Amino acid sequence: MTRLGAVAAVLLTSLVSGATAAAPDPVEEIREEALHATRALELVRSLTMEVGPRSAGSDGDRRAVAWAVERLAASGFDRVWTEPVTVPHWVRGQASAEIVAPFPQSLVVTALGGSVGTPEAGLEAEVVRFETVDDLEAAPADAVRGKIVFLDGRMERRRDGSGYGETVPNRGRGPAAGSEKGALAVVIRSVGTGTHRFPHTGGTRFAEGVQRIPAAALAIPDADILAHQLEMGKPVRLRVRLTSRFLADAESANVLAEIQGSERPGEIVLLACHLDSWDLGTGAIDDAAGCATVVEAARIAGRHRPRRTIRVLLAANEEHGLSGARAYAAAHEEEIAGHVLAFEADFGAGAVWAYASAVNPAAEGFLAASQAALAPLGIEYAGTEARGGADLIPLRQALVPLADLAQDGTYYFDYHHTADDTFDKVDPEALAQNVAAHAVLAWIAAHTDDELRPAPPREDG
Ligand code: ZN
Ligand code: ZN
Repeated sequence: MTRLGAVAAVLLTSLVSGATAAAPDPVEEIREEALHATRALELVRSLTMEVGPRSAGSDGDRRAVAWAVERLAASGFDRVWTEPVTVPHWVRGQASAEIVAPFPQSLVVTALGGSVGTPEAGLEAEVVRFETVDDLEAAPADAVRGKIVFLDGRMERRRDGSGYGETVPNRGRGPAAGSEKGALAVVIRSVGTGTHRFPHTGGTRFAEGVQRIPAAALAIPDADILAHQLEMGKPVRLRVRLTSRFLADAESANVLAEIQGSERPGEIVLLACHLDSWDLGTGAIDDAAGCATVVEAARIAGRHRPRRTIRVLLAANEEHGLSGARAYAAAHEEEIAGHVLAFEADFGAGAVWAYASAVNPAAEGFLAASQAALAPLGIEYAGTEARGGADLIPLRQALVPLADLAQDGTYYFDYHHTADDTFDKVDPEALAQNVAAHAVLAWIAAHTDDELRPAPPREDG
């Protein structure tokens, strides 16, 4: 209730102060249309309920591409097209885990993306616990060899979601680190918040030459059970059984659409999201909401004759290795220098609360206009350290100017990558606020007299 109340307050503020904001025409019109007449919620409902889960290479992935082409073609874009992307095709299979000793109990578990299966009968071994993958890497191999590693890091709930970045290395690197020390399998405390009994999946990476081992996530209450039994000091034995496996690589596609600029069509404002999802839920907040946001933002902004081109990228396979992001950067290499701004919606469906930029510091008119247009939506300016989303990593490396519209991540990681990521978790008012924020930023970037390039140098690359 408090969350709904806060969003309502933000929207009320926007209605009251919008009339006096010093924003260029037709920004106010775009903002109001997005707040009150967006079709974003219908897009999320349709994608999640009529297509459903869409992990890379699956039938759902193919149906999602067809769905997106059809929806974009019906949304008034000048051009809608697909570009082929080869994706890994991993299938989850079944997962089970049980503590065998000292106090037997079944645990709720799911495989991590990229895990191999266990032997048919499962595998059983003593558990060794570490809090972080760094602790695991620092441990002597003798302490790990022949055991099941338990990575027990807890993610902290914060609005900016920074707890995720701190904990997710356990998932991304942990299984490979365990493999290199001779572990039989790695189980992690789910990288997520909340206390429901849904395990959080997500990708794990094994470098070339590192043997893939079974890797799984325990639901948070189940990680508590395992941690408690370990604390009692007796050896804890766990049995794990997974039937995950890779099939042959599959064909998927990036889906693109654009409204061509009236004066500078070769200059591109890019709005990105990812069309794929994990398979446990229906990918509503990750990332149907983001795709609905950018599609609707581009459609609404595009109705007001942008001078530059506004393009949306619905990227293939973000979850399992950024295949779509890499394919886009490769296919558009010649055009990268024409990208004047890129931003991505891939942080759930919470209201946007902060805006950061990484554009030419001389673009003062753009910076002032964008801040003025976002302020009535309750969005504060957070400086020049914008980093872009995961699908923008190749563009960041190519020094494309970026913006971040930071969404409220307080509750995102309660549902993220779980079976509970479903349509009902999307707050319609927060979604409309997202569309409004993305739409006004897209239009101002597409219309400004300023040059947004070159982006400032980035110390971290
Ligand atoms: Zn995502
Ligand atoms: Zn995700």
